Amino acid sequence: MRQKKHWNNSIVNEKEQSYRSGFVAIVGRPNVGKSTLMNRILGQKISITSSKPQTTRHRILGIKTDERSQCIYVDTPGLHLNAHKAMNRYMNRAATSSLDDVELILFVVDVHRWTEEDENVLKRVREKGTPVALVVNKVDEIKDKEELLPLLQQLSAKMDFAAVVPLSALKGKNVGELEKVVYDALPEGEPVFPEEYVTDRSERFLAAELVREKLMRSLGKELPYATTVEIEQFKEDEGMLRISALIWVERQSQKIIVIGKGGERLKEIGRSAREDMERLFGEKVFLQLWVKVKEGWSDNERILSSLGYRDEQ
Ligand code: GDP
Ligand code: MG
Repeated sequence: MRQKKHWNNSIVNEKEQSYRSGFVAIVGRPNVGKSTLMNRILGQKISITSSKPQTTRHRILGIKTDERSQCIYVDTPGLHLNAHKAMNRYMNRAATSSLDDVELILFVVDVHRWTEEDENVLKRVREKGTPVALVVNKVDEIKDKEELLPLLQQLSAKMDFAAVVPLSALKGKNVGELEKVVYDALPEGEPVFPEEYVTDRSERFLAAELVREKLMRSLGKELPYATTVEIEQFKEDEGMLRISALIWVERQSQKIIVIGKGGERLKEIGRSAREDMERLFGEKVFLQLWVKVKEGWSDNERILSSLGYRDEQ
């Protein structure tokens, strides 16, 4: 998706200082705040978030371009243990492959706890030999700041980190510090993407993701993992966007839950997804949602691939 940028000097005019560019991977176990962090840095919702683990299913680039640098953040599905289903294996592959060819790895952890899954991520990033910055997220939830120091010391000892940055992705606290660390890690280089690009993903993809975010947030514990979204129509029509989306579930009983009593839940999902789309695309959106049953889609490699869960080059 492209967007108009608002700074004054164009890249070509900045000759005094050498330009920097590069890729930075954001990794960590599910639910630590990786996507929230990327959105905060970019200043808009490119990657969807929710309190449920495994909200992010694909690798998504978030591109931040300014007068001095272009940093390409790679948001990834959380690396998790117990990847039994085809969908979970796809997500782990997407996360692992994004560790290659980056200048810096942002290893995001939750200030509250260090788990076996964090240990697993640590093992994988250590193997890479790429510089790793440890991002200790959700510090807004620590009331007594004196608790923070010993905790940071403990975490710092886990490996030789390029930096350890405590921050709050949600509140935006200390995120600027992290961006300095990122800038320092970037090598000299020309921008990889045209300056108006904010992500490598299409508006169509982002629209599907926004519907999925509302599903993740609105449904109970198990159901979100049985749903996916496919955009059937996405077209410009007399100054507005007409979008129609199919919500796939695995069973008839799930379809009834998604639609809700008197269609209330589906209506609410549609309303909030449409509002987010209008904010992101900067125009009026007419959104239609349909719910359909496709048995066993999340554990079938062929169906997954036809729904857009394809490994990338
Ligand atoms: P991901 O799975 O690592 O991408 O995590 P998400 O970005 O989807 O965030 C998971 C949950 O943590 C969401 O409910 C976020 O609102 C919440 N969260 C993320 N960052 C912060 C933070 O800095 N502070 C607090 N309190 N919550 C956060
Ligand atoms: Mg995520």
